[in-house]
Amino acid sequence: MGIICGLLGANLAGSFSRDIHEMFGATNYRYYEMPEEKLDEFFKNREFHGINVTMPYKTEVMKYLDYIDDEAKAVGSVNTIIKDEEGKLKGYNTDVYGFEKAWDRAEFFVHGKKVLILGTGGASKAVEYVLKNKNAGKVVKISRTGEDNYENLDKHYDADFIVNATPVGMEPFEDETPVDLKLFPNLRGVFDLIYNPLRTELILNAEELNIPCMTGLYMLVAQAKRADELFSGGTIDDRKIDSVYNAVKRNKRNLVLVGMPGSGKSTIGQVFAKEFGLRFYDTDQMIYELTGKTPEDILNADGEEVFRTLELELIKQLLEEENAVIATGGGVVTIDMGHHTIKHGSCVVYIKRALDELDLKGRPLSKKKGIEAIYNERKDLYERFSDTVIANDSTIDDAVERITDLLKIT
Ligand code: NAP
Repeated sequence: MGIICGLLGANLAGSFSRDIHEMFGATNYRYYEMPEEKLDEFFKNREFHGINVTMPYKTEVMKYLDYIDDEAKAVGSVNTIIKDEEGKLKGYNTDVYGFEKAWDRAEFFVHGKKVLILGTGGASKAVEYVLKNKNAGKVVKISRTGEDNYENLDKHYDADFIVNATPVGMEPFEDETPVDLKLFPNLRGVFDLIYNPLRTELILNAEELNIPCMTGLYMLVAQAKRADELFSGGTIDDRKIDSVYNAVKRNKRNLVLVGMPGSGKSTIGQVFAKEFGLRFYDTDQMIYELTGKTPEDILNADGEEVFRTLELELIKQLLEEENAVIATGGGVVTIDMGHHTIKHGSCVVYIKRALDELDLKGRPLSKKKGIEAIYNERKDLYERFSDTVIANDSTIDDAVERITDLLKIT
């Protein structure tokens, strides 16, 4: 049956932990989702070999432990518990290890620099511990109720780094950012501990402002590696962190193709999906299957608003997917839904093809407006919306290969 281990927390929806621990070799990783009043019984029974602890119990669980590792004691929170042969419980904090690994991977040089940590919960303590050990010049914790709060952020316009250790950016605050990065002209780096969505509003804003940034996924994977070493008593090669990180990122992220009608999104998407055994969705085709009408019919008979509303509903459903390839209609970039909504969990690729090469047979809108006018309306949106541009100027296989190379490195 293997070692019984798992994750304890109040709400485990959206957790990546089981996938990650299985990649590190765990065979019996369980989810223990429970309200606080069940904790007494859970720790009385101790029916596990080791557990990870997440929000909001990282401090709460300390009272059930027989020993606490020095680092966890210094941090004041525990996120990994091991039961020894006598049934005694010892608490550790692997967020310290995970955050340090991720910070170093981001190549954020913090010596003598000023850092703002947003939030004062369990994770913020691990972050503060690491940054102080790295001799950060000044570490300021921003709290909704503290002396340094969100109303007087202008005091800290000179911050070099910002670390988000609040839940702002994850469900139900997915469309929110904890701070406006434009207030901090000196920023050298932004670290968001959130890993689901893969890219939060804060991270997308940092990307748009060309500020180096790091999401919480690498930290999550690194801390899980350390926890698995504690569970098993063995050691795991550090290189495994990178391979698990890349695999999780690949498995959780959709590939969304945008571009002009007839630019090759569907063909390229289909070939790509087939090559890697992924699910493929073509929104124009799905609209036809759902309504019995082609997008062109709907646009001509019911107008653009009706068509875009249908398309938007469909895209929202498809965004629930993981590791799928989605070819969108050419006008998707004009929908007022906030492009970030798509980018939170997807890599968006703009398939660019010369106007005179576009295959326009039976394409929506092309008859009424003329393709050049449509292109001029949308070209900036395609560029701004996408993470990257792939030219479809040779063969389909060539375009697929370019996307494959791209996804290996992002
Ligand atoms: P926590 O103990 O609940 O603390 C979160 C802190 O954020 C609170 O203490 C609070 O500080 C602030 N906060 C809460 N709700 C807020 C809101 N609506 N607006 C602004 N601030 C709010 O949680 P945690 O364990 O420290 O985790 C914090 C975040 O880090 C979570 O998103 C978690 O998923 C993430 N995390 C990621 C990893 C990883 O491996 N990537 C590891 C641990 C945690 P104030 O009351 O002082 O404002």
